[in-house]
Amino acid sequence: MKLTLKDTSLLEPRARIGDKWVAGKKQFAVINPATGEQIAAVADLGVADAKAAINAAHAAQKSWAAKTALERADLILAFGQQIADNVDDLAVILTAEMGKPLAEARGEIMLGVGYLRWYAEEGRRVYGDIIPGHLPDKRLLVLKQPVGVAGMITPWNFPNAMLTRKMAPALAAGCAIVARPAESTPLSATALTVLAERAGLPDGVFNVITSEEPAEIGLELCTNQLVRKLSFTGSTEVGRILMRQSAENIQKLSLELGGNAPFIVFDDADLDAAVAGAVASKYRNAGQTCICANRIYVQRPIYQAFAEKMAAAVSALKVGNGMEDGVQIGPLIDNQALAKVEDHLADALAAGASLAAGGERIGNGLFFQPTLLTGVEKGMKVLREETFGPLAPLVAFDRDDEVVEQANDTEFGLAAYIYTNNLSRVWKVSEALEYGMVGVNTPVLATPEAPFGGVKSSGLGREGGRDGIEDFLEIKYLQLSL
Ligand code: ADP
Repeated sequence: MKLTLKDTSLLEPRARIGDKWVAGKKQFAVINPATGEQIAAVADLGVADAKAAINAAHAAQKSWAAKTALERADLILAFGQQIADNVDDLAVILTAEMGKPLAEARGEIMLGVGYLRWYAEEGRRVYGDIIPGHLPDKRLLVLKQPVGVAGMITPWNFPNAMLTRKMAPALAAGCAIVARPAESTPLSATALTVLAERAGLPDGVFNVITSEEPAEIGLELCTNQLVRKLSFTGSTEVGRILMRQSAENIQKLSLELGGNAPFIVFDDADLDAAVAGAVASKYRNAGQTCICANRIYVQRPIYQAFAEKMAAAVSALKVGNGMEDGVQIGPLIDNQALAKVEDHLADALAAGASLAAGGERIGNGLFFQPTLLTGVEKGMKVLREETFGPLAPLVAFDRDDEVVEQANDTEFGLAAYIYTNNLSRVWKVSEALEYGMVGVNTPVLATPEAPFGGVKSSGLGREGGRDGIEDFLEIKYLQLSL
């Protein structure tokens, strides 16, 4: 299928290494999950290419770091402007390869631009310290310097913003990048290489290696001594593999991994706002975000009313090809994702849960009805594991301490949400939740100004905010003897 683009050169099937566009000896197909059609055949590269990209990044990094922060900022802003100017085409490419509705794709891309804008400025505020000396003739100084070459491995669910969100602090800090996008969604990343070149980013500062198989390139990014930092977003399982592999290299790591977000609605909450928030949190991107509400706990006095309102809202969601007007939920990414939703649903129904909305596949493709389960209880898979699909379980609870205990009863700790108008409860519950982020009366968390990330098995490090750039910096301490 041909995509309708204003600028067809943004559909780039080649990888980018240094100053070269690389078509590869072989290619792999990128498929539109809404239609099953092939969008492009993309360069399928291997370890030799990854090494070449790392060398190119290494060669470019020192002169990139030697620019002033303002010179880097101007180039990062120009890159962000190129992305903003081409948001319509980038959204079409993103929706075609990933499935989310066009409006969500546009929102994702502009969020990424927001990170570039934020870090272009933040790079100018990488302050060091001067510490009072411990002896009269000593002066103690602390400098912050870029780590060097940064590897990035990104997932398919936010093919554009997961990359720009990592690139922004890396570029601002003075790092050069070797990125390996997910095999199902490489075209959003290669489009960024085209725009980076147009914006005037020096060759070698931003390299993209596309490949169908992730493992060997992942291993190279972990073990190549020129790569001083690896930033990964994806599953906890793969995060563990990468952490183990990079042990030899003593590499700096940022890991943004899986979640199992609790969404807690107390009986004093604004019911309509809580229902709207739960729907927005759970069904965005067809339930395929790591901060999607995975378990919805509702206090017993309002449980019935909440369930009825939510069932009505869920049944009204429009499912379809994300390119079509008004569609709110696109397809799932692949058959495995669909099978997981069906497995969690069957497990819950067999254990006594009830269907309040949805529950079926739509057609023969990758579409699934937005689904709501009531009467869900502890022990069911849908509460223990991340469903990553449009299936929401409702659980009734009585006491604050009981729901906090259930919310924390997981290896994960990325995002949690609470809906309440009781200020004391807001503080007590937020402080007791073992999570990196808590949304209070809001389902939206990611924004350039704030540190996004998790605790426990949900990861290491933060993306966004003033903390995000620290992950791409090393500290150097100087002692001067007068
Ligand atoms: P998801 O469930 O989002 O697909 P994964 O962790 O499997 O989560 O994938 C996230 C990213 O990690 C993707 O780009 C994928 O190709 C990549 N990946 C998967 N396995 C490995 C591996 N062994 N080494 C490096 N990258 C990997």
